[in-house]
Amino acid sequence: MSLAESVLVVCSMCRRRCGCGLQLTPLYLLLLALLLLLLLSAHTQPGSGRHIPRGSRQHGQFPPQHSALELIPSDSFSEDQFIAATARAARPRSRRRVYRLLRAARRTQDPREGSKPVQLKPAPPESQLERQGLEKRGFNEVVSERISLHRRPPEVRHPLCLQQEYSQNLPTASIIICFHNEAWSTLLRTVNSVMDTAPKKFLKEIILVDDLSDQGHLKAALSEYISKLDGVKLIRSNKRLGVIGGRMLGAARAIGDVLIFMDSHCECHNGWLEPLLDRIANDRTRIVSPVIDVIDWKTFQYYHSVDLQRGVFNWNLDFHWEPIPEYEQKWRKSPTSPIQSPVVSGGVLGINRNYFQNIGAYDPAMVMWGTENVELSLRVWLCGGSLEVVPCSRVGHVYRNHLYSLPDEEIVVKNKIRVAEVWLDSFKEIFYMRDTPAYLLRKTEVPDCMERMQLRKRLSCKNFHWFLTNVYPELSMPEDKSRHSGVARQRFLLHNIGTGYCAGYQTKWSTGGHPVALAPCSGNGNQSGEIIHVSTGKCIEAIKNGTSKDLFLRPCNKYTTQQLWRLETVTVMNKR
Ligand code: UDP
Ligand code: MN
Repeated sequence: MSLAESVLVVCSMCRRRCGCGLQLTPLYLLLLALLLLLLLSAHTQPGSGRHIPRGSRQHGQFPPQHSALELIPSDSFSEDQFIAATARAARPRSRRRVYRLLRAARRTQDPREGSKPVQLKPAPPESQLERQGLEKRGFNEVVSERISLHRRPPEVRHPLCLQQEYSQNLPTASIIICFHNEAWSTLLRTVNSVMDTAPKKFLKEIILVDDLSDQGHLKAALSEYISKLDGVKLIRSNKRLGVIGGRMLGAARAIGDVLIFMDSHCECHNGWLEPLLDRIANDRTRIVSPVIDVIDWKTFQYYHSVDLQRGVFNWNLDFHWEPIPEYEQKWRKSPTSPIQSPVVSGGVLGINRNYFQNIGAYDPAMVMWGTENVELSLRVWLCGGSLEVVPCSRVGHVYRNHLYSLPDEEIVVKNKIRVAEVWLDSFKEIFYMRDTPAYLLRKTEVPDCMERMQLRKRLSCKNFHWFLTNVYPELSMPEDKSRHSGVARQRFLLHNIGTGYCAGYQTKWSTGGHPVALAPCSGNGNQSGEIIHVSTGKCIEAIKNGTSKDLFLRPCNKYTTQQLWRLETVTVMNKR
């Protein structure tokens, strides 16, 4: 897979919370192609897996590798604000790793290192290690570990941003970083980058919320590292809260005027904080987002988005970025002007602390992870606030490859259903038309949204039609809308030539994903399909096994009709 492809795959895989800010312009593609040629010429090692990085052979300038490990006693260990001491003792193997990480951290603790370019050590032939890291985290931890914990992203702000002056009396910020089993390097690079870039007078505190991590490096070693940093607090939860609950826990402890929620694998640009605080200082009902750049999950290279983008969602309630519409472009006075955005990404956002609590924080009945950014965004727009992306503020985020770190799909669906039930009014029908798992789940389980409906009433929020008219008119009414009027509409069928059957969702599905079922081609709801890009490069094959027929991913073989599919359209009459 090429570098450009790998970025695009991640973009397509990570839409639920963060989307992907990178637009590949022709110039960009040219540069990427050149880079690719260089990389290809540097690679001689054949046949590593599709998503598995080839190590760091392309980085010929690494200093020599470090020698044997030396154990360092954790003498200065001091417990922080623990909610619960559920720490499990680290296993001996991970302990060795913890000490190695601590040593590495001490070497890079000098902030002056921040201005140095990325420092990488040579890698032993460790594709096995890389693969393990990738499967555990969804990004290449081996490469991340070789990068300074204080690296600074390149300066990519618009020149006018550098001339901006901000008040000396901006509100203060509490940065809340919630994590579950985050890698040592990415977590500490996030913390360090905030400390290295946020002016002391505006940085009230950094609150790390450990969401019941069980990996050794996040126990004593992390506490020790954090205890030496000024103004960094560590809260450990004794139950798994997910990012939604974890952020609310952090928010409840925060004392800054503004909350900045940040994922645990980010890198901040110089001057990222002030423009965000400035916008909130002028109007406390604004939710603000920096421009979120892409840190590549495979190479940790920093890609900045060139075009200005805003956050939006589709009828599946999946978040993504898109270029700003022309009217927004005209309305903006300068390249530094903020961009109104229908949705903010889940990765990094700022909000006035009191306003956050007054409008109902996050929906506490939404669990773990996913669509919380869409819910918050809709609520803020509909209940009197606004959302914007501030172009002079930039933060990089590692868009994980969710092929490896797939979240529990059923949880995300449940969260989406809550958003639809509380905020979409009758438009929720379109969502259910689009999202078959949600449709099926909703039939068996009716969520209790009473409290959120009451909140909506209490805050005198507007309806979703207002949002569609005033905030996001570009959300096109799909052909599914015809369902409401009872007219005929078209659906697609994925028809297997070999078996004569069609693919569809199974009506019963488990938390492991959505099994695909083959059945006679009826054109009913669960056979209307989207075309899926199968990134393994394999083909979907229908295999008859006695009376049952199953689908498998198999090496492509053009001689079997069981791998032959035809996309058919059928016309369905809908009932009103
Ligand atoms: N996270 C958490 N608890 C969880 C799942 C995620 O604290 O159960 C943290 C995670 O470490 C990260 C943030 O929540 O800091 C968002 O998760 P992730 O980065 O996986 O989401 P994505 O950016 O891929 O949408
Ligand atoms: Mn993330």
